Amino acid sequence: MNELAEWVVTVFSQAPDDVVFLYSAVPVSFWGIFWPPYRHRIVNTLHSLHGGDADAVAIRRSRLATQLKALDFTNEEELWKAGLLVHALGDSFAHTYVKNGEVHAFNELYGHAFATLSGKDPDVINDDNMSRYRDYLFALYASLDRESSDSALRRQTFEKWACELEGGPSSIGREKLQKQERELVDVLPFSVFNDFLTTMAVTLENPPTPNEVQVAQQVYSAGTSSRICTARLQ
Ligand SMILES: [Zn+2]
Repeated sequence: MNELAEWVVTVFSQAPDDVVFLYSAVPVSFWGIFWPPYRHRIVNTLHSLHGGDADAVAIRRSRLATQLKALDFTNEEELWKAGLLVHALGDSFAHTYVKNGEVHAFNELYGHAFATLSGKDPDVINDDNMSRYRDYLFALYASLDRESSDSALRRQTFEKWACELEGGPSSIGREKLQKQERELVDVLPFSVFNDFLTTMAVTLENPPTPNEVQVAQQVYSAGTSSRICTARLQ
């Protein structure tokens, strides 16, 4: 991916949390009660608040990663889609919690409002959320990586960086990003955005086969990254 493409993907991956009225989970969860299918597409599809159990969480991650992997990054038309899928993939890790040893996704009705109010905001990259964030980075890397002669070397560099990463504020200039979000999002017609989310929702909600669940659990269960990082140290 060239630098410009990276920037467009970055902008669209952050836009769902910043383009407040149309894209963000909290405002749409309120006004969307007047348009329930759209509320579903924003809250459940784009922000991965699907309320599923551990199998559903693994399937959601796996299908988002597969959709991302299928995109052609040399096609400028696809880049905004990549950004939205990156956002949904990130949220499919962030918007989960563990209860009685089982992973669950926060649900479509309340999202993570109660967790955030009790001081455990799942969207913050801190020590509490670091293992889920690291699992996400590994899934993201795999779905963005395209085979090339230096793949193995790049993978090693990435693993070292991801395994040593600590939580903290983002280094990307927030103001510049938000300005670009407004400009780029204005160019994307609402109907095209809405159609894409509709297609995404259908793909994500098809009933899984038992084999698909098993494979997804192997790749996307909690702690995948910590196993890789521990192995690196030995
Ligand atoms: Zn989100």
